[in-house]
Amino acid sequence: MKKLALHWQILIGMALGVVFALILSNFEWGADFIGDWIKPFGTIFINSLKLIAVPLILASLIKGVSDLKDISKLSQMGVRTIGTYVITTIIAVSIGLTVVNVVKPGSTISEETREELVANYGGEADLKRQDAEKQKNAGPLQALVDIVPSNIVGASSNNANMLQVIFFAIFFGIGLILIPEKTAEPVKAFFDGFNEVILKMIDIIMLAAPYGVFALLAALVVESPSADLFAALAMYALCVISGLLLMIGVYILIVWIFTKRSPKFFLNGISPAQLLAFSTSSSAATLPVTMERVEEHLGVEREVSSFVLPIGATINMDGTSLYQAVAAVFIAQAFGMDLSFATQLGIIATATLASIGSAAVPGAGMVMLVIVLAQAGIPEAGLALIFAIDRPLDMCRTTVNVTGDASVSMLVAKAVGKLRDQPLVKNWDDNYKK
Ligand code: ASP
Repeated sequence: MKKLALHWQILIGMALGVVFALILSNFEWGADFIGDWIKPFGTIFINSLKLIAVPLILASLIKGVSDLKDISKLSQMGVRTIGTYVITTIIAVSIGLTVVNVVKPGSTISEETREELVANYGGEADLKRQDAEKQKNAGPLQALVDIVPSNIVGASSNNANMLQVIFFAIFFGIGLILIPEKTAEPVKAFFDGFNEVILKMIDIIMLAAPYGVFALLAALVVESPSADLFAALAMYALCVISGLLLMIGVYILIVWIFTKRSPKFFLNGISPAQLLAFSTSSSAATLPVTMERVEEHLGVEREVSSFVLPIGATINMDGTSLYQAVAAVFIAQAFGMDLSFATQLGIIATATLASIGSAAVPGAGMVMLVIVLAQAGIPEAGLALIFAIDRPLDMCRTTVNVTGDASVSMLVAKAVGKLRDQPLVKNWDDNYKK
């Protein structure tokens, strides 16, 4: 019997998770049952993905950088990668601004709903504000200081320090290029083998993906707030989602134009990572799967994927920046403010920077939204308006974030001649069967 493709298995797992939770929420004990007996499996699944992230970045980036054999190639690729990331982010913010200005979802919010939302979510919004406050108080160069760890073991002990691990790996890779080849060889071979093992572990974890997403979505359904509030925010949510869909269209188009890969090829290759991004709301947790899919199913060679993707997971968040633009203007509209053209241009700049600064974890985009609001002079209390619907939108924007990273990696790979015509698909039991 032909095996069902992974993305279908994951989709079925997601759908069953939702249906299961909807059925169980009719019973008084349903939510507790899911919290106690189902949700932990989702947590285990996410943990196992996060577990892989640091060793994967270390091994693949060290190997990838050292394979470039030449530091000028590295800087060329770096400039190309960052440049493309910034351009896609600016496109995303502009799409968001256009949609929200045309649809004007904020004007559909009644005074009454606004007050209700502020009363319900004011407290939670305050917590986000405090988180943002910490970041705002830092000096202008703090972001740069934060990239350089003072201790590599310390840096690797926290997934939030991904940029520090990336820094170490690139630095180590450069060292490896500069030492005599004979001495470098065993080190490279070690990291190569290490990387293969990690990729195999991802294959094994992915066998559990349909069950993992079942648990994650079931838990989300029983924890989500009431449907009435969702309805009040429907127009806003629709703006974010249609902007995000347009952005996916942009990726498909640029991949098609610049690499001649069909939409079907691209989406088939990347969809399991997209579905995981949707289910986990974290591009960092999805990173191992994104890397595996991009290398083995989209044909990007490791030298490029190992460099472009970990950096992308931390700094390239097109979905987040698009959402921040829509949310900021929506809040302004709901408070009856008219934003000038100059303020909206300011939003393009701050949303681009804020998305770069957002951590790749659930809800991070909302914390950084505070900074976009503050810059544009929009009341930060407005966060409470969009709180109720943030999680589902987080799921959607994370999907776009991951898709963006994957498409940019294909563009960069094509530009530097590292895009394979035929991807080398590897299954978890390839060697085992023989
Ligand atoms: N959850 C998003 C991510 O990990 C970040 C955000 O927008 O909150 O990509």
